[in-house]
Amino acid sequence: MIPSVLPTYARAKLNFVKGEGSWLIEAGGERYLDLGAGIAVNALGHANPDLIGALTAQAHRLWHVSNLYEIPGQKKLADKLVNASFADTVFFTNSGTESAELAIKMARKYHYDRGDTERVEIITFSGCFHGRSTGAIAASGAEKMVKGFGPLMPGFVHLDFGDHDALRAAVTDKTAAILIEPIQGEGGIRTVPDQCLKGLRDLCDETGTLLIFDEVQCGMGRTGKLFAHEWAGVSPDILMSAKGIGGGFPLGAVLATEDAASGMVVGTHGSTYGGNPLAMAVGSKVMEILTGNGFLDDVNRRAGLLRQRLEGLVGAHPDIFKGVRGSGMMLGLECKVAPADVVAAGYEAHVILVPAADNVVRLLPPLNITEEEIAEGADRIDAAATALEGTK
Ligand SMILES: *Cc1c(COP(=O)(O)O)cnc(C)c1O
Repeated sequence: MIPSVLPTYARAKLNFVKGEGSWLIEAGGERYLDLGAGIAVNALGHANPDLIGALTAQAHRLWHVSNLYEIPGQKKLADKLVNASFADTVFFTNSGTESAELAIKMARKYHYDRGDTERVEIITFSGCFHGRSTGAIAASGAEKMVKGFGPLMPGFVHLDFGDHDALRAAVTDKTAAILIEPIQGEGGIRTVPDQCLKGLRDLCDETGTLLIFDEVQCGMGRTGKLFAHEWAGVSPDILMSAKGIGGGFPLGAVLATEDAASGMVVGTHGSTYGGNPLAMAVGSKVMEILTGNGFLDDVNRRAGLLRQRLEGLVGAHPDIFKGVRGSGMMLGLECKVAPADVVAAGYEAHVILVPAADNVVRLLPPLNITEEEIAEGADRIDAAATALEGTK
């Protein structure tokens, strides 16, 4: 008989009932150090008192009115995002997938309104992940995501990650946009080098193509800057956000320049929940903390410690680990064994890690993880690796 919950997930047999900062606690009281943060979502840890305060204060006032009416919290959070980024304007969604949908629509509408009605193609790269809607799986093109779900939405061109020649050849008078994660998350913490992001920007400028960065996973302070692309000194025309932006409350956003957003006039897009007062209250508090004095400097400092410890683990367990990749608090341990085995050994050692493609185990801890917790996490991964060596 089919379970009452549609069985689309392969869940670990862990049942957390409570969270405290970087810790998750099971019903029996077992404590796990959480280096996954709900896949980069709990950016400020579990049960963060500031976020609880913002959420509950709003919960006592007003939950939902719909976008038929003014929602002052939207302007408050949008102003913060605009002031801290390349963007001139923001649309609020509830998830990364919804941000992908709007980014795609926005890019096509931009060219349509200029009379370039054939300019509909969006270029994406192998290993990318942009969500699970029919549009987002078409964007990815990955066999395991699209099989059985056709016909797929047309208009996506899939290129090999890092193939510059193919990219130059693929940009034609049909190209609306290039869509890329500055650091692939699900794809295995694969970083696009700064000079490649610069090259992409130049290529887009030369050809009038829009550049869309998917920073759903790598954005919102994850790499030690508010957005990962800032390290490269270039900015996109459109940016997708979600995950960390709500600190655990479902929230996403599309940020855009005034020019890129010019086609999205009244009636062209909407969302019942998007920008809901509860989400805005939490999102504003998250932004206030991330952009607060010295917060990101401190993330960078502690991320350096974490990276050092991981490099040490690679040296100590050469049969298990091959190297460290990624940046800031978005790090990957390249594995010589199955990443699922490392994650399972982590559970035994009471540390939460997240598998990814490309033989990588991800570390995406809360951005406010302490130095002591970083040391403890490294010790637990060390114990997990030692246990794995014993089984070989
Ligand atoms: C998680 C993720 C998405 C999809 O976000 P959902 O909130 O699950 O819809 C899109 N892009 C990237 C890079 C992601 O990591």
